[in-house]
Amino acid sequence: MSDKIALSTWPTPIERAPRLGAELGLREDDLWIKRDDLGGLGGGGNKVRKLEWFVGAASAAGADTLVTTGAAQSNHARLTAAAGARLGLDVVLVFPGTPDRAAHGSGNLVLDSLFGARVHWAGEGAPSGLGRVAEDVCEQLRGEGARPFLIPFGGSSPLGARGYVEGGQEVLAQLPDVAHVVVALGSGGTMAGLVGALGAERVLGVHCGAVDEPAATVAGLAGVDPGSLRVRTDQVGAGYGVLHEPVLAAMRTAAATEGIVLDPVYTGRAMAGLFAAVRDGDIGPGQRTVFLHSGGLPGLFGHTETVHRTVSALSSRKPS
Ligand SMILES: *Cc1c(COP(=O)(O)O)cnc(C)c1O
Repeated sequence: MSDKIALSTWPTPIERAPRLGAELGLREDDLWIKRDDLGGLGGGGNKVRKLEWFVGAASAAGADTLVTTGAAQSNHARLTAAAGARLGLDVVLVFPGTPDRAAHGSGNLVLDSLFGARVHWAGEGAPSGLGRVAEDVCEQLRGEGARPFLIPFGGSSPLGARGYVEGGQEVLAQLPDVAHVVVALGSGGTMAGLVGALGAERVLGVHCGAVDEPAATVAGLAGVDPGSLRVRTDQVGAGYGVLHEPVLAAMRTAAATEGIVLDPVYTGRAMAGLFAAVRDGDIGPGQRTVFLHSGGLPGLFGHTETVHRTVSALSSRKPS
């Protein structure tokens, strides 16, 4: 098995969040934020830890082009573009849909073009067909004499999950008595790696609507029984790409108490899931709780109008 290639400086910091903890009804020392949003590469985020393993494998295979898939506002795609730039590899991003004006020129797409990635728009159709389109793109690149390396959707595979076995080990070294780690569950590799390091009982995943079977997906990647996993599915709302008011309210509370910015698709949902877990007693005072800040800030700028409108309306009410 190939080695990883470092793309950032580790460990990331872990910081107390006493004002947010108090707002939730926890004790002053209970709530901590693991700052995996502070990455040295491309705006940072959880995909950096996974990509270190994929670019290691790509380099061992002699690849000259990275290919991956995602939604147009994919943080994983943006960080793949940044990793390619850092290592001098070409990058092709395969996105569903067409380059319409709404999608173009906002959030992560701006960064994708700054990093010099090419975007292949796959057209309308089932997102499950994206993987096949990406394989066709690889085939075409090979025909042109390139050596493509395909990174799976979200960087989630047993190889990518290794990055979060390491992330979980960092948390354990920083806070040995951690009782809960709360994490956004997208394509599942991040939670799978954390479960590998910390055990299923200490990791709470908050489903973001990116996959159909969240627990089975994580279980498959982690090699554990799906029934052993703690997964909340109450923050998806109307779907993955659709903003959900409780999430924006949680984002506003985190921002107003700690100066921490979350995104509306992943980390905001994870924070709303943490609020719900404290409300229903799954997490309680006196239990050391780590919120994994997995990045995603550029994604906020792919939804600015809705976020601004909803948060302004919330601001005219009292914070809850
Ligand atoms: C992708 C992503 C996640 C989810 O990670 P998975 O490993 O795909 O489950 C969480 N937060 C952010 C900001 C992400 O971009």
